[in-house]
Amino acid sequence: MAHSPTTAPLRDLRSSTQKRADAAADTRPRITCSFYRYVQISDPESFKTRLIDKWQAFGCLGRIYVAHEGINAQMNVPTEHWEAFDAWVQDQPELAGIPYKIAVEEGELPSFFKLMIKVKDKIVADGLDDASFDVTDTGAYLTAAEMNEYVNDPNAIIVDMRNNYESEIGHFQNALTPDVVTFRDELKNTPELLRVHQNKKIALYCTGGIRCEKASAWLKHNGYSDVRHLKGGIIDYAHQVQEQGLENKFQGKNFVFDERMGERIGEDIISTCHLCKAEKSDTHYHCQNQICHTLFIGCDNCLAKKKGYCTFLCRQLDKLPASTKKTLARHYNLKFRKGQPFQKTRRQTQSSTRM
Ligand SMILES: [Zn+2]
Ligand SMILES: [Zn+2]
Repeated sequence: MAHSPTTAPLRDLRSSTQKRADAAADTRPRITCSFYRYVQISDPESFKTRLIDKWQAFGCLGRIYVAHEGINAQMNVPTEHWEAFDAWVQDQPELAGIPYKIAVEEGELPSFFKLMIKVKDKIVADGLDDASFDVTDTGAYLTAAEMNEYVNDPNAIIVDMRNNYESEIGHFQNALTPDVVTFRDELKNTPELLRVHQNKKIALYCTGGIRCEKASAWLKHNGYSDVRHLKGGIIDYAHQVQEQGLENKFQGKNFVFDERMGERIGEDIISTCHLCKAEKSDTHYHCQNQICHTLFIGCDNCLAKKKGYCTFLCRQLDKLPASTKKTLARHYNLKFRKGQPFQKTRRQTQSSTRM
């Protein structure tokens, strides 16, 4: 089908300054939402074109990834076009019935100043290169109430599919929390890790569900039959607990990748300051030294004492002239900082595990 010349251009040729200005000038109320789906998309490029054509006309803004394995979108839609947007989405065979996660509070998701739709290898990087793996063959979902039953069930095993710095500040009671810093490693290790639990019911969870959904398919692919995952992840679990008055079995904070770094769910603080290793804390900070930028957990005391740096070395280095720092940057984390008392995103406490 040929495009008429009046169709919005596929490439947005405005400068980024212009995009920001245009976005700021557009004060229409917007609905912020996110959604994802693992679904076979045979031609991601043409799928992308289809989305851009329509969503640009609706005035949508956001960041959307498309791959052969599916779609992952964080975006907003002018409220006036929401119904038309929804109707169009539900009309696409790849997207029909897709559930949206609507942001309840302002600023829950990053705001956007352009519509960026990118074709990627994967919507969630997994390091897998296995043509026979069908990512759409996922396990069944668990509701929050069902998850709670799993927590108390000796015949069930719960696995946290997030990274160690996420599970360190909060996780489900009795969950296995693998000591990994990437999802690739987590995926690689889990089938082996669960070998001893082969006959148990398995429940996976992550922040919003997108990682454990893939992991559930991967475990099925590796011979595990009874694999389920928490629908909508910890984020939705917290909502369901509140709405249905359920007992909260998630201890501590849910790590989120925005300026808040964490959302408190349970009352308890389950982690310890990385600097003094004594004071309870579950607040993450990035080292003030931009070259280091290590993510660490700090207590108020240590933070004030160390002035926001992770180590004395980082504080000293930051005093050097910019030109010197630039030369140092390349080698700093590799050579100098390596010998420091804690590594990047290192876990401090071993969480409880149930065998
Ligand atoms: Zn401390
Ligand atoms: Zn540092």
